[in-house]
Amino acid sequence: HLEAAATSLKPRTSTTHPTPYSWVNPVTVASSAGLPLIPGSGPLAGRTIAIKDNISYTSAPSSCSSSILRDYNPPYDATCVKSLVRAGARIAGQTKMDEFGMGSLTTHLPSHCTPVHNPASPTEDEPPRSAGGSSGGSAAAVAEGSVWVALGTDTGGSVRLPASYCGVVGLKPSYGMISRRGVVSYADSLDCVGILARDVGSVQGVFDIISHPDEGDMTCVSSSARAKASSILSDHLASSLSPLVHPSETEREIAGLRIGIPENTLDSPPELLSYLQSKGAIVQRVSIPSLQLALPAYYVLASAEASSNLGRFGGGWYGSPFERDARNDTESGVERRRRIRTEGFGAEVKKRILAGTYALSADEFNNTYLKALQLRRLLRRDYQTLFRIPHPLQTSQLPNTTPKSEGVDIILHPTAICTAPLLDSSPSDEHKKHTVKGSEEYAQDLLTVPASLAGLPAMSVPAGRGEDGWPVGISVTSQWGMEGLVFRLGKVIE
Ligand code: GLN
Repeated sequence: HLEAAATSLKPRTSTTHPTPYSWVNPVTVASSAGLPLIPGSGPLAGRTIAIKDNISYTSAPSSCSSSILRDYNPPYDATCVKSLVRAGARIAGQTKMDEFGMGSLTTHLPSHCTPVHNPASPTEDEPPRSAGGSSGGSAAAVAEGSVWVALGTDTGGSVRLPASYCGVVGLKPSYGMISRRGVVSYADSLDCVGILARDVGSVQGVFDIISHPDEGDMTCVSSSARAKASSILSDHLASSLSPLVHPSETEREIAGLRIGIPENTLDSPPELLSYLQSKGAIVQRVSIPSLQLALPAYYVLASAEASSNLGRFGGGWYGSPFERDARNDTESGVERRRRIRTEGFGAEVKKRILAGTYALSADEFNNTYLKALQLRRLLRRDYQTLFRIPHPLQTSQLPNTTPKSEGVDIILHPTAICTAPLLDSSPSDEHKKHTVKGSEEYAQDLLTVPASLAGLPAMSVPAGRGEDGWPVGISVTSQWGMEGLVFRLGKVIE
C-alpha cells in the first residue's frame, strides 16, 4: 500500500522532451517536481552523485533509455540509492545509457536522445568520440566534473569500458557484493552495480557504503561470506606481502604482490610493468586458455537471460506510453502486446530478444545455451587455477590447481581493444579507422566479459594516453571478494 501511495504522488512526466544536455537523460530533466529523498548527514554529506537510468529512483522516471518505459515511475528506491542518500549524498540526476544496458557506445537510444559525447577530447575541433557504453552517461558526467561519483551497471563491461574511454576509474565489484534490488535486470547472473569516479579512493569510499547484505536481493552475499572474504584478505596481506617498508604508504604497499599478464591479449604498457616491479611486485606470464571463448559465451548467455527478463515489458505491469492513444476495441491482448513491444523496443534490444529466444528454443538449447554455460564453467576454472588466494565461497579446492607458490593475486591487461571510437557516422577518411560498426561493437567487450562470466571484481584504472592522445585504461582483476587488493594496486597505477 505504501508503494502504491508513493507512485500515485509522483508527477507524470510530459511527453515532450527538452534538448538533451550531454549526459543527463532528458526524461529525467523533464521531471523537476518529484519527491526527493532527503540526504542524511554522513560521510557523503555534500557529495553529488549521478545514477544510471536503470537504477530505480522515485524522484524521477527510470526509463532505462527505452521508449517502452518512458513514463515509468519506480515505486521504490533501489537499495544502493537509499544507502547513498542515507550517507548524505545528493542525487544529481539519471544518466543516459544504451537501451536496457545493451551496447558499448551509448548509441542505442530512443530517437529523441542524442549520443553522449566523450568529454576527454584532446582538441576542440576533432569530431566527437563515444563515451563508451552502456554506462556512457555516468562516465561522461564524472569525466567532465559535473558530479563527484556516478553509479553504473556492468553486465559485461558497461562500467569498465566507458571508464577506459573517458579516462576515469570504473569498478565492477564481485558478483553479489552490491544489492541489485531496484536495478532493472538485463542478465541477472551477470548484472552488477558499478562505481565510476576520478580516483580510486572515491570509488572505494562509495563501495564501502553501498556494499552490504540486503534481504531484498537473494543474490546479495551475507555478512558471514563478507567476513570470510575480509579475513582471507587480511591473512594474505600479512603472510604474502613483504613486511611494510614505509608505514605511511601502507595502503599502496605492493611488495610481494604477484601479477599475472595473460598470454594472447593486448600487452600492458611496459613502463607500467617496470614501475610495478620497481615497487616489489612480481610480474609473470599466465595462460587463460578459455579467454578467447568468453565473448561468444557471454553474448549467448546475456541474450538468453535478457529475452526472458524483457518478457515483463509489454504494457501490463509497467504501463506503456503507447497505450492511451492507440487503444481500440478491436485489438486483442496479444495484438496490443505485440504493438507495444514493436513500438517500444529499439532495434538492438529486439535483436537480443530474438537471439536469446533462439538460444533457448528446444532445437538450439543443447547446442547453444548449454555449450555457453560449459564455456563459462571452463573460464571460471581457468581463473581459479591461477589464483593463489582461495575462493572465499568455495568449500572444496579444484583438482590440478597450480601450486600456490606460483599462483597470482591479480590479473592485469588493457581494459579495451582500442581508445574511444568516433561517433560521427560520416567521418572523414582520416578518421574512418576509429569508427565502430555492426559486430565490431560486440568486440569492444573482448577483455571485459571474462571477469563478468567468472563473477570476479575488476576495475579499470586510467594508465595514460594512447598514440592518438585518448585515454587508455588498465584492468585489475582479482579473486572473488578481494576488492581490497584491487583498490591497493589501483592506487599505485593511477
Ligand atoms: N556491451 C555489452 C552488451 O551489450 C555489455 C553491456 C553491459 O555490461 N551492460 O551486452
